Amino acid sequence: MNALNPSGWRPEKTESTSAALAPTASGDRGLMLEEPLIFELGREGQTGVDFDNADEAPDAALGAFLRKAPVALPGLSEPEAMRHYTRLSRQNYAIDLGPFPLGSCTMKHNPRLNEKIARLPGFADVHPLQPQETVRGAFEVINELAVWLVKLTGMHGVAMTPKAGAHGELCGLLCIRSALDARGESRPVVLVPESAHGTNPATAAFAGFRVENIPATDEGRVDLAALEARLGPDVAGVMITNPNTCGLFERDMKKISDLVHNAGGYVYCDGANFNAIVGKVRPGDLGIDAMHINLHKTFSTPHGGGGPGSGPVVLSEALSPFGPMPFTARMPDNVVYLVEEEDAATQGHSQSFGRMSAFHGQFGMFSRALTYILSHGADGLRQVAEDAVLNANYVLRSLEDVLHAPFGASGPCMHEALFSDDELPEGFTTLDIAKGMIDEGFHPMTVYFPLVVHGAMLVEPTETESKQGLDRLIASLRSLAARAQAQDPSLKSAPHFAPRRRLDETLAARKPVLTWQGHVQAPGAPSLSEIGGS
Ligand SMILES: *Cc1c(COP(=O)(O)O)cnc(C)c1O
Repeated sequence: MNALNPSGWRPEKTESTSAALAPTASGDRGLMLEEPLIFELGREGQTGVDFDNADEAPDAALGAFLRKAPVALPGLSEPEAMRHYTRLSRQNYAIDLGPFPLGSCTMKHNPRLNEKIARLPGFADVHPLQPQETVRGAFEVINELAVWLVKLTGMHGVAMTPKAGAHGELCGLLCIRSALDARGESRPVVLVPESAHGTNPATAAFAGFRVENIPATDEGRVDLAALEARLGPDVAGVMITNPNTCGLFERDMKKISDLVHNAGGYVYCDGANFNAIVGKVRPGDLGIDAMHINLHKTFSTPHGGGGPGSGPVVLSEALSPFGPMPFTARMPDNVVYLVEEEDAATQGHSQSFGRMSAFHGQFGMFSRALTYILSHGADGLRQVAEDAVLNANYVLRSLEDVLHAPFGASGPCMHEALFSDDELPEGFTTLDIAKGMIDEGFHPMTVYFPLVVHGAMLVEPTETESKQGLDRLIASLRSLAARAQAQDPSLKSAPHFAPRRRLDETLAARKPVLTWQGHVQAPGAPSLSEIGGS
């Protein structure tokens, strides 16, 4: 028994670890810390706070709200609580710790300047229920950001309220649905190419459309002939990810838009990966009707672990009248932020489908994104795209002799490099390479996505990695590919240097154990099932 590990839990020993590991009394290995649950650590009667009158009769004013039994909180001293969370945080991999090459996620450095500005009290402390006249500055920030987004994309208007990429997709499809309703047409089908992001078909289905797939060519792009053949009066539109999830630019975008428009449909573009083309291409020039922009990717606001996102949707002139309130629209020369429904009527925006969110969107992300944009300027943003693409091509060309690059021969990639498991020896998989990366000290790349490629490994280095950083990542991946070729059995059981060993992926996904069963009930305390646990 150990004070920090009352359950006596020990990490499992396996034969595959290269060095024989002596058991330690604490379960820790050097600074690789084991950490019990806070409920296992806590004990009755211990507390981190001192109240003089803790034992006195509680306030009668609480009436019916008075607790009938003590709540089952773990008892810890302040240093114990502090250390518990700090130890847990050290088991986390973070963008501030090392590269995070997750393809399509754009995990890049979030400049500290953004954080500094977002923490200014005038920004950090605004409350969504404050009277509008007291938050004019915040509106100014939203408006200025909106103007940048409209100009960078060459579109007509922008809905700032969607709270993430997928939420933006829903917003765009609701605009398309409203536009079709206004035309008195019911078009049930949305076409989604195989190379689209997985959220696209999910959103279309959620918005009530029937999803039909359009195949990809051998080159990894939309099959134009197949798309053209499928267009017709039942098609509401297409959802195209550009650059697509094979890391390739859809070169025929303008042709695709013309075909869809001629057939009476609308073009939704998934612009989550705008970082690959910002400052280089204006989606409005390609005939796109709606596109979400992930501020938390392209414009460098923190994300991950389900953290805050922000997915403004830029809209064409055809779809703008249907956008949600509050809304920013470009009248011939100026941009107006429409806060009130009354303004909407006078500004030609009376067909709004409603609201995506109760308030004005993710303001903490707006202030960071605007800081990022202003600190780069238009030229700097263009260089962001150039550097992101340069870094991805450096990774692609540095690895294609050891990992199969399915589209390597069809020219340069955009912001991410795609590999398949085609050249791994029998018995070795993409998963082994991904787990091996953990031992090398890196977050794994995106695996088994996109689905168009077998055993896909999608590496997005982003523009914030230096050449030295990329060389380390490349050296690790080359070493893993060589170990796979040498059929190294220890790669099959990686990771060895992580707090947890390789999990059963299927069980972990299908039957995760999310609640602690070892709850010891304090006298009179509710059981876990009574408080919603099991
Ligand atoms: C990240 C991403 C999304 C989804 O964005 P969320 O903010 O996670 O909802 C959609 N499409 C693509 C291409 C993405 O990379």
